[in-house]
Amino acid sequence: MKAMRTSKLLSLCGVWTLMVGLASAAQTLTMATEATFPPYEFLRGQEVVGIDVELSRAVAQRLNRPFAVENMDFDSVIPAVISGKAQLAASGITVTPDRKKNVDFSEPYVTTGIVAIYPKTTPYTAPEQLKGKKIGVQGGTTSDTYVLEQLKQEPERFKTTAEACAAMLAGRCAFVIADIAPAKNCVKGEARLALSGFLSSESYAIAVAKGQPELLAAVNATIAAAKADGRLAKWVDDYTAESDKLKEVAASSAEASAKSGVAAWLSAQWRALCDDVYLCFLKKAADGSSRGMYLVRGLGITLEVALASILLGLMLGFFVAVIRSSHDKYGYFPVMNAVAKVYLTIIRGTPMVVQLLITYYIILRSVDSKVLIAILAFGINSGAYQAEIMRAGIVSIDPGQMEAGRALGLSYWQTMLKIILPQAVRNVLPALGNEFIVLMKDTSIVGYIALIDLAKGGDIIRSQTYSVYLPYLTVAAIYLVLVMSFTWLLGRLERYLRNTGADPVHNDS
Ligand code: GLN
Repeated sequence: MKAMRTSKLLSLCGVWTLMVGLASAAQTLTMATEATFPPYEFLRGQEVVGIDVELSRAVAQRLNRPFAVENMDFDSVIPAVISGKAQLAASGITVTPDRKKNVDFSEPYVTTGIVAIYPKTTPYTAPEQLKGKKIGVQGGTTSDTYVLEQLKQEPERFKTTAEACAAMLAGRCAFVIADIAPAKNCVKGEARLALSGFLSSESYAIAVAKGQPELLAAVNATIAAAKADGRLAKWVDDYTAESDKLKEVAASSAEASAKSGVAAWLSAQWRALCDDVYLCFLKKAADGSSRGMYLVRGLGITLEVALASILLGLMLGFFVAVIRSSHDKYGYFPVMNAVAKVYLTIIRGTPMVVQLLITYYIILRSVDSKVLIAILAFGINSGAYQAEIMRAGIVSIDPGQMEAGRALGLSYWQTMLKIILPQAVRNVLPALGNEFIVLMKDTSIVGYIALIDLAKGGDIIRSQTYSVYLPYLTVAAIYLVLVMSFTWLLGRLERYLRNTGADPVHNDS
């Protein structure tokens, strides 16, 4: 009997070990990157491609694991491997002593360096010229450290090198410092800009979390093999060619500025605008979809996150408001009231973007769906504000209403739900509407967790076409239409509630 039980136990253990083994064999190898760094990583339509992607995919193939890419801000790439969100950080990352303290680096796969990009109107001759000038950099990069440590000044930090260059062309900074590859890409086809010689020598490597010798060995073996059999060189050639083609400027925009005479100027401007519209929204990319799809898909994500978090916030808000006001008026639910107060204090006392990042990196670290993470973070945040608005509504209702409900034989909760809340909601609908509008626009920070919403979609188009006005103005116009439609709907709801039994005091019918 005992022997049977032991053998059963052993076979169960065997099945368990096999399952764990299978699960870890099939565990996805995720690469964290920031896809505005051509040719190492950039977007081909929705897909992240580039030299680093090929290298990391080859590591996954070597390990026989499924492969995924997570696109995020550059300064989140190393934290992503430290927190376990990703296993490889490959983003043209320079090996530096500071970074080595936090992660392990593979063998370098390329030697390169940083350069200054300058407008030809202020020719650059020597690094001393940079001192004391406004210098644009991509935040968190070695260019950022160069300005801080070598020039001993604060740089102007941007999310991408392309953004820094656009700012320089708009006269917002004197120089931009960046790695040579993206710098070349920025200068390509841009007659007003030129590049300096190298300011430093750096090498790129892939980073993994500390204490993973097998993974590191697999990365090193992959790099060595790709160097030896010529794959690395081929990726460099292919992706440099492809990313060069990405950088397009509307053909007639240069022509437009050359025309003279008002009518000719106007017609040239009109043609330039049409070209810009074509380039930014209609032209088909390599994957067959047009750039406008970034906005269409982004709008879908914005609506999904905003509507779901408004609903979640409403439920939370109702609940917390009832608890808080019942406690204040009748002394009910003391424990839940204390919890609600802590919730309100923490949520209202910390910035939304920090809450979003904490949810993404710490609390829901193992959740893959970024949409779900965003909905929970925004819903929980909005719940706190809606709770206070709702509480104001509940407090504004005459205590006689509760007494009347109870006298009619309804329970406390029934009176709350059927008599008090409908009137409270009607009273605070304008304030709630305001909160919904703020929430809808606030979702534009989901780009921080690399979710491509409407705002981020516009940003991607801007970074690929270097056209600033059209993508941003279009995104602004879409948000405006969204908010106006929403305000109109709320107005209708208000009118409807005014004309129905929800307003027992002022009901005209
Ligand atoms: N090589 C630079 C760094 O590691 C910049 C990398 C990047 O912007 N992707 O800081």
